[in-house]
Amino acid sequence: MDNQVDEIKQKLNIVDVINRYVPLKKKGRHYWACCPFHGEKTPSFSVSEELQIYKCFGCGQAGDIFNFLQNYEKIDFREALEELAKLAGVTLIKSSFIDHQESKKKLLIEINNQVAKFYNYILLSHPLGKEALDYVTNRGITIDTIKTFSIGFSPNDSKYISNYILKKGYKIDDLIATGTFGKSHYGSGLYDRFQGRLTFPLHDYRGHIVAFSGRILPSSKNSNMAKYINSPETEIYHKSQMLFGLNIAKEAIRMENSVIIVEGEFDMISPFQNGFKNIVALKGTAFTQDQLQLLRRYTDTLILALDSDFAGNNASRKSIELADSMEFDIKVLNLGDKYKDPDEAIKADPEFFKSQLKKSTDVWDFIIQSQIKINDIDTIKGKKEVLTVVLPFLVKIKNSVVKSDYFKKLANEINSSVESIYEEAKKYENTNPTNFNLIVPKSKQLEEESESKTEKLEELLLILIIGAKNPAKLAQKLKKHLNNLTVSRFKTIAKFLLEKEDQTLKEILDSLPAEIKPLFQTLYFESEKNQIESKTRLLEIKKATTKINSVLLKDRLNQLSNQISKLENDEDETSLKEVEDEYNQVLEKLHNLQSTK
Ligand SMILES: [Zn+2]
Repeated sequence: MDNQVDEIKQKLNIVDVINRYVPLKKKGRHYWACCPFHGEKTPSFSVSEELQIYKCFGCGQAGDIFNFLQNYEKIDFREALEELAKLAGVTLIKSSFIDHQESKKKLLIEINNQVAKFYNYILLSHPLGKEALDYVTNRGITIDTIKTFSIGFSPNDSKYISNYILKKGYKIDDLIATGTFGKSHYGSGLYDRFQGRLTFPLHDYRGHIVAFSGRILPSSKNSNMAKYINSPETEIYHKSQMLFGLNIAKEAIRMENSVIIVEGEFDMISPFQNGFKNIVALKGTAFTQDQLQLLRRYTDTLILALDSDFAGNNASRKSIELADSMEFDIKVLNLGDKYKDPDEAIKADPEFFKSQLKKSTDVWDFIIQSQIKINDIDTIKGKKEVLTVVLPFLVKIKNSVVKSDYFKKLANEINSSVESIYEEAKKYENTNPTNFNLIVPKSKQLEEESESKTEKLEELLLILIIGAKNPAKLAQKLKKHLNNLTVSRFKTIAKFLLEKEDQTLKEILDSLPAEIKPLFQTLYFESEKNQIESKTRLLEIKKATTKINSVLLKDRLNQLSNQISKLENDEDETSLKEVEDEYNQVLEKLHNLQSTK
């Protein structure tokens, strides 16, 4: 298998592969693009043809073609392997374990398709679905829309679906693995989680049915039941990646370059039926990073049509902070107090919905205005209330120009000074530490560790060497300096650089221990950020090595002078003489070094 991975890597060029998804532009030795993983307007995503790797300087994502495809397509290694093998024209040798996993997933999707078909048939064509169909059509949903979304109804008695699905020959364990069914001790041995509910298949963005959600009918006797339930997480259903309707809306989202975000199935379906096709439902109020990354492929503008009191909600604050950090433009479609949700608004007054959509405001304006409306800002208490809700949002704005604009706006609105707003904001800066799954760039982590000057200098020296035309050869010339590096991870890299005089950078990278590879890649991309001529490079190297030496010599001088004072106290004349001699030699070296600069 490893051999096949290598074979695929050798046959494909990372530049061609990534270029299929993200248009790349060559600049210097690298190819660049706006990062598909964190969203941005100036490119910091770079691809090295030489090393066949990519790295984003914004979010830190890095890796080879397999990593790229897995992250970009949200697929697992096996799926990436299959896709890339096809692209490379490599026939994969079967591995029974992985094939088993793969065919299991396909089987679950197939069962879900059968189940969705059955539910849809019951709703549209069977007397058992009559009441449900009346309910849906009374809500203004057309037959066409029911077909588009494959909406269905699961009869009150599980025996119908059980008989139907078991006759198809599926095993009970596989049926249970879909999450739709549970084991029952009576009858067929299965019960249907969605029985008595209206059903909505949940598709992933590729259009596979991976799960269901179910809504009870208003007539349902049992008022203890949750209005909506969803399938549990399964091998194919990952809640954090689900956006209801994305498979159908994605082209419209791309065309409009915006996406309207709502909370529930009907809030998505009603506007969609009325021509607002760039719309998805979150099934909750909070975004996950996976969801935002999916949306980022189609647009950079979010229009939130969420519950009007979402400003008071901690989850939405985190969502907005996350979306802002990914450089989305975030707007709010304000339905005011008139309608409780998009579904109701669109049915009562589609024109109002349309005009409010056009008037969408930036999310922070919306938050400020919504709080001013419900508080009396002429009183101290009212002002305080406004600040308590608004500031936690504003302090998290990533762009400091935008942030200071909103501080000014807020100060104006509540008739206060900008200085006092800044002062007050300090209280909120460290509250709600957000634990998003953001990938911490490796280089950032290292930066924090490496405070000392030598560390910085040694790093710079390596960057300068790695960026040269022939790093291995240059390394040999600088052997003396490289052997004297003090930071252990840099020492390791130096050792591998010095291994052979004629090795290529790719060979060096491949030979490195796995834990050092990311650092090497970071240094490599760092070296490429500033293209310099080889003459300048040599000069810079000279400067760096001189500085490293002088820092080392100064450290030595310090040690020696400590020793001297100690020896003076001890009146140990012989040793004192030796140490003083060395002190003078080091001092002389330092002197020479500084005068040659
Ligand atoms: Zn990025």
